[in-house]
Amino acid sequence: MANSKWGALLVAITATLILAGCTTAPRTSPSSDKPVVLTTFTVLADIAANVAGDRLTVESITKSGAEIHAYEPTPGDIRRAAHAALIVKNGFGVDIWFDRFTDELRAPKVVLSDGITPIPIASDAYAGKPNPHAWMSPRNVEIYVDNLVAAFDRLDPAGTDTFRANAATYKQQLRAVQHNLVTALNGLPANERALVTCEGAFSYLARDAGLTERYIWPVNAEQQAIPRQVAATIAFVRTRRVPAVFCESTVSDRAMRQVAGAAGTRFGGILYVDSLSRPDGPVPTYLDLIRHDARTIVAGLGGAVDR
Ligand SMILES: [Zn+2]
Repeated sequence: MANSKWGALLVAITATLILAGCTTAPRTSPSSDKPVVLTTFTVLADIAANVAGDRLTVESITKSGAEIHAYEPTPGDIRRAAHAALIVKNGFGVDIWFDRFTDELRAPKVVLSDGITPIPIASDAYAGKPNPHAWMSPRNVEIYVDNLVAAFDRLDPAGTDTFRANAATYKQQLRAVQHNLVTALNGLPANERALVTCEGAFSYLARDAGLTERYIWPVNAEQQAIPRQVAATIAFVRTRRVPAVFCESTVSDRAMRQVAGAAGTRFGGILYVDSLSRPDGPVPTYLDLIRHDARTIVAGLGGAVDR
């Protein structure tokens, strides 16, 4: 971001903070009297809304379809944060772009990946850092839910029974989705149990489902296919005779279609990771996202290799 833009943003933030400090900050949604819970991206908003039920208003800073790794908050986003009753982040670096704008706010913050053992990123500049996509394991999302219940209890103690009941119901759905995902993918032949994607976003899902993961860039903030990594991916697909490769909804699939062409395999379709679709799209909820990805991966890998 250019310095001038930072400057403008910091002026906006300062003004917002002054306003928030000088008045009784409205900590509820204009359309209701419920406290506003502000998440950094849509996947977290949906998970949080399942726990919150109708006691809290849950919103997301980034919109459906947004690229979330290198997001630049707008002055409007900062104003929303100043008026939120709780700020919900994923952690593990994916929403670090929000930290400098929320550190000074008095709204409490909760980091949903707290308590999860990270899988380190294997390659390039990010090597050794936690892979942020912990939500791609529904098992991990049970820990997200526990962290949300604890934060919501502090925010709205009278709602504790509701939050706990909602969490129990949602965890049952998470377990069903996890079971179906693992069962479907474990049924594939050994050479087809390989997941090749644009971003290295599937480490947790691949671990759960016994898949070998390959990708052409480690984190979407780069969005550049590194020639060495592309060559290695093509070689892997050829050697393993991987029936299909995939790319994520929030980035261009051009590089992966080239990999498919060079390796003589199919492009298997679009997977959702970092963002939900719009409500009328294929993955309006997190549970839909996992179901959609499991179906797409099994359909892609289960078909015969066309060569
Ligand atoms: Zn990502």
